[in-house]
Amino acid sequence: MNILLIYPKMPSTFWTMDHLVEMVGKKASYPPLGLLTVAAILPTEWNKRLIDLNIGQELTDEALEWADFAFVGAMNVQVRSAREVIESCNAKGLKVVAGGPLFTHEHDTFPSVDHFVLNEAEITLPLFLADLAAGTPKPLYATPDFANVHETPIPLWELADMDKYAYMIVQYSRGCPYMCDFCDVTALFGRKPRVKMPEQILAELEALGELGRFGMVLFADDNLIGNQITLKKTLLPALIEWRARTKPPLGFSTQVTINLVDDEKLMDLMLEAGFRHIFSGIETPEEGSLLASQKRQNTKRDLLANVQRLHEKGFIVTAGFIVGFDTDTSESFQRQVDFIQESGIVIATINLLKAPPGTELYKKMRDAGRLIEPFDFDENESNIIPVMDPQQLHEGFDFVLRHVYSPDYVYRRARTFLQAYPGPKVTNRIVRKLSAGDLGTFFRILFRLGILDASRGRFWNLFFWTLRNRRNLLEYPFFFAALSLQFQRMYQRYDAAAETRKMQIKVVEMPVPVPSSASAESGASFKQSA
Ligand code: SF4
Repeated sequence: MNILLIYPKMPSTFWTMDHLVEMVGKKASYPPLGLLTVAAILPTEWNKRLIDLNIGQELTDEALEWADFAFVGAMNVQVRSAREVIESCNAKGLKVVAGGPLFTHEHDTFPSVDHFVLNEAEITLPLFLADLAAGTPKPLYATPDFANVHETPIPLWELADMDKYAYMIVQYSRGCPYMCDFCDVTALFGRKPRVKMPEQILAELEALGELGRFGMVLFADDNLIGNQITLKKTLLPALIEWRARTKPPLGFSTQVTINLVDDEKLMDLMLEAGFRHIFSGIETPEEGSLLASQKRQNTKRDLLANVQRLHEKGFIVTAGFIVGFDTDTSESFQRQVDFIQESGIVIATINLLKAPPGTELYKKMRDAGRLIEPFDFDENESNIIPVMDPQQLHEGFDFVLRHVYSPDYVYRRARTFLQAYPGPKVTNRIVRKLSAGDLGTFFRILFRLGILDASRGRFWNLFFWTLRNRRNLLEYPFFFAALSLQFQRMYQRYDAAAETRKMQIKVVEMPVPVPSSASAESGASFKQSA
């Protein structure tokens, strides 16, 4: 049996970081973890090929004619490309098997898919394979149960062209104990975090090491600290021991809730284990909106002081923010900008309120007649009819982006961050020898941002300030300069789409918003969590 695994194209968003990835000489951020895990569940004797449309690979006639089945895995953001892929397969008479969050939520909008393998593949894929072997495959396999991740195999990394990816990826846990109403993680994976055994994670890391793929490894958990007791007792000690023994030249990034800051021991263990970059969904500094969207873990705390403490400890905080809550006023936009600037969070993603299918917010908005459908997910769009005048909301969103992503503001935040950040105090430091690739990146950044870019003065200011005050952190001005370029390009893309959006706002017929106590002040994020 010949299986073609196809990963549709991601649109250019904050998460693809395409300009940054290009700057480091790569094509995409991460290999497709879910699809490669599916590949590992398929019978070993089957022939498998992966086509990832994000790294310049193409869906050729030869590949489509070679395959007996196409397996397509996708998230909401890949919907446009997923439809094109399915059309190409249909045109060649190639049977399509589809799974992943996009199809789990919206399979009824894909009538030409032959078989849906929904929810977690560890449960549904074996059912499909058994029926296929018996000659009776059904159109749809779904389950209300959650998989035992102790049985999840190591992804079939060898199918991917690993040199094309900037970072590597593993996953320790699925599920999250919180109930943020805009987030589809609990609908997909439940509220009880299920975690892999430390041996599984170490085996996955060793497998990546054998492929020579060390560097930064993302723990693609929606909330790594969802089960803190097990994390502290098992995985973190195992990673610390492994790091001390093998001295791997790699660091970890992940997503966590902000209450990480409440637990000194957990922070120390994470740092010692090698975690450095952490993403946290801060969403808004406004308490009322956090409460209404059930983001209770972010309430009753000084969020600004929390971020500063995380920086002081040695984490580099990346965070997500949302505008478009029902309670937002004309002043909310300036408050978001002020918070982001004061926090020193250099990498901030800003989204319009959205209601992803499967979430509580989606149901509330649908019941209130406030959903815009159909809808293609994009950071700069929303499927919610806002309480605020739509034109005012888009102007406010534009205001936040224009400030937060301007080189002046990015470099100022970088300075704030570097002033607060001493670097982690750990026993086992991450030591990485500079490679030829690193030198290439260094010269590309130097040429584009230190010589050609209009903001080169800001870059050199930051560089010399760091040289005088934080000599041990000299790589950061380069990193932040590359980010500044990424942000500029993202803003340009948003700006170019703004006129079209203004016209769309005018032509959408607006039902009268019906905010209820349950639907007021809620938020949505763009496939971001924690
Ligand atoms: S947004 Fe984060 S904390 Fe909230 S439910 Fe989703 S994963 Fe959990």
